[in-house]
Amino acid sequence: METQSQVVDRLRSVFRSGVTIPVEFRLNQLAELMSMIKDNEEQILSALHKDLAKPKFEAIMSEVDIVVNELHYTIANLTTWIQPDYVAKNLATKLDDCFVRREALGVVLIIGPWNYPLHLLLLPLVSAIAAGNCAVIKPSEVSAHTDLLMAELIPKYLAQDCYAVVRGGAEETTTLLHNRFDHIFYTGSQTVARIILRAASVHLTPVTLELGGKCPCFIYGRVNIAAAARRLVWSKYFNAGQSCVAPDYVLCSAATRDALLPALRQTLEEFYGEDPQTSPDLSRIVSPRHWTRLMELLKRSAGKVVLGGESDQEDKYIAPTVLVDVSEDDALMAEEIFGPILPILTVESLEEGIAFINRQEKPLALYVFSDESSVVNTVLEKTSSGGFCSNDGIIHMCLPTLPFGGVGASGWGSYHGRWGFETFSHRRAVMLRGWMLERLNGLRYPPYREDKLSWLRWTTSAKSSCSLM
Ligand code: NAD
Repeated sequence: METQSQVVDRLRSVFRSGVTIPVEFRLNQLAELMSMIKDNEEQILSALHKDLAKPKFEAIMSEVDIVVNELHYTIANLTTWIQPDYVAKNLATKLDDCFVRREALGVVLIIGPWNYPLHLLLLPLVSAIAAGNCAVIKPSEVSAHTDLLMAELIPKYLAQDCYAVVRGGAEETTTLLHNRFDHIFYTGSQTVARIILRAASVHLTPVTLELGGKCPCFIYGRVNIAAAARRLVWSKYFNAGQSCVAPDYVLCSAATRDALLPALRQTLEEFYGEDPQTSPDLSRIVSPRHWTRLMELLKRSAGKVVLGGESDQEDKYIAPTVLVDVSEDDALMAEEIFGPILPILTVESLEEGIAFINRQEKPLALYVFSDESSVVNTVLEKTSSGGFCSNDGIIHMCLPTLPFGGVGASGWGSYHGRWGFETFSHRRAVMLRGWMLERLNGLRYPPYREDKLSWLRWTTSAKSSCSLM
């Protein structure tokens, strides 16, 4: 069997041969990836169900269709994206061809997480292929069924010389990271991101980090409580709260909290019935280890459980749970929850809420629920986050025209649609010159003289660029 470094070396020599560069090749591979998903939809849904008890509805929406839509969008736009961008010039460069050319980076490494094990592995792959790269793809070992399925299917559909799946956990990934890559695209936790960064620093490999954090849902001012409860419950308990953009906690006034609680109770019952454990529409926690982490968090919290709280270790089940009287230094506020537990914290003014948000690390997503556009705009103006959505959760990440990614500790870089193509491309600055205007060029040659300098400054000034283009 080939070693990891033999795989990387093989891909690198194939990349150097230029096979992945023609747009026809890229479009063909994207079409193959589309066939892979369409031909094997049932198997994919079954693997996702085995890994997370993911309901078919959620799996189609957030795993299968999101990749299919990205593929359609990329295939439809790739020939436009690869065109060079001609740039503005000044007098000194008037006769030159000056443009930005998108070039493939080389052999890239894509490391995926377990929570959306298809979507978060294949979406970056779509961008990597579109940009003309070879790729090593490392699925998460935690979502074992999807991991195995990807390792079986990808080589059947994609050019094996150009794209390789490498499987394994921390140990195998550590060895894999000793290899030189031209880019590392990592999705996962902040803890492992530090390990990735250390490994990348050895070869000065550029990285994209798609991380997580605590996404606030700030409910303030006049608000449609019934709709707010439905959208909050949906976005929080989708995939049992194991979404990097799930609302992590709610911030609201005590009065809003009191109005919200009965609406949350009613919505939970509408969505998942009286006993959510029997509902087919609620995922399970991915592993016993992750279940234990969440139950420990719940135990250590000083908050009061007002909804849910039930659990079943055998079934890796935790009921949709809501807590009140949670303080900023509570255990639930110390790390990303990443499960079906929702603490509600109270603040009494808009300013207090904004100050609270700004005391935490910049989140991957920030949600504001309010009927008042001035509230929404004030929060938008006075905070920072990877993405922002008013009066809903998660949904902003489904639009391929918006960049998806974090800021600061919630991630570096972005992808989806053209943004992903750009992430996996080098923007090469090109100036094609001939031998014309040598007299004008002569202004910069020694012997230096004051009059040459003032002419030179005029030909290269920003002012001359606008009027003389
Ligand atoms: P994780 O960091 O544990 O694992 C992600 C990947 O890293 C896996 O492929 C795993 O095999 C590998 N890995 C684990 N330990 C490693 C080590 N020591 N050395 C090298 N590689 C290692 O993350 P996770 O638990 O799969 O995902 C949960 C986290 O990911 C959450 O914080 C969540 O917010 C974040 N996330 C972010 C996004 C996003 O798009 N921004 C999406 C999903 C999840």
